[in-house]
Amino acid sequence: VAGSQLIRQLTEALRCLPGVGPKSSQRMAYHLLERDREGARRLAQALSEAVEKVRHCVRCRILTENEICPICADPARDSASLCVVEMPGDVEAIQQATSYRGRYYVLMGHLSPLDGVGPEDLGLDRLLQRLASGEVREVILATNPTVEGDATAHYIAEQLHPQGIRVTRLAHGIPLGGELETVDRGTLAHAFSDRRDY
Ligand SMILES: [Zn+2]
Repeated sequence: VAGSQLIRQLTEALRCLPGVGPKSSQRMAYHLLERDREGARRLAQALSEAVEKVRHCVRCRILTENEICPICADPARDSASLCVVEMPGDVEAIQQATSYRGRYYVLMGHLSPLDGVGPEDLGLDRLLQRLASGEVREVILATNPTVEGDATAHYIAEQLHPQGIRVTRLAHGIPLGGELETVDRGTLAHAFSDRRDY
């Protein structure tokens, strides 16, 4: 980028986005500055506001600007079922694809001993504490059908079986190695309603 330190700075900043390399970040920077300053202002404002205010719900860990997210706060939801997912985006995908009316718990990842991610990093102690109250009767394990997602589901199921809580896992149909977020709605809806005891 010739001539502008600020453009270089913007171009480098845009590379924090997934899948954005040097070429596309440069294209984005020029697009914003030459063709859409209004959009750029909105982007900057939305970004800074979200970064300041969005945090994790203290109960389920989805992203929200409230201390307790609208799903956890909604008294009409069924507290007897709890759906465990890896990432906040998975909640969004299940909300859009299914008629599930229970609650969620977001692990913020999966077990990955090689990367040093253990049960405590996923908040599993807090999850088990919550389940000990006896309110939850079914735990739906909706981790991704990857090696790590399966291992995580297996680990959680092992902790829950002695407690007499029904544990289910989404039916296959989600491509192996795939991620919930990227599966089409029909497939996800089917896998969800056709979940099996695990
Ligand atoms: Zn919540």
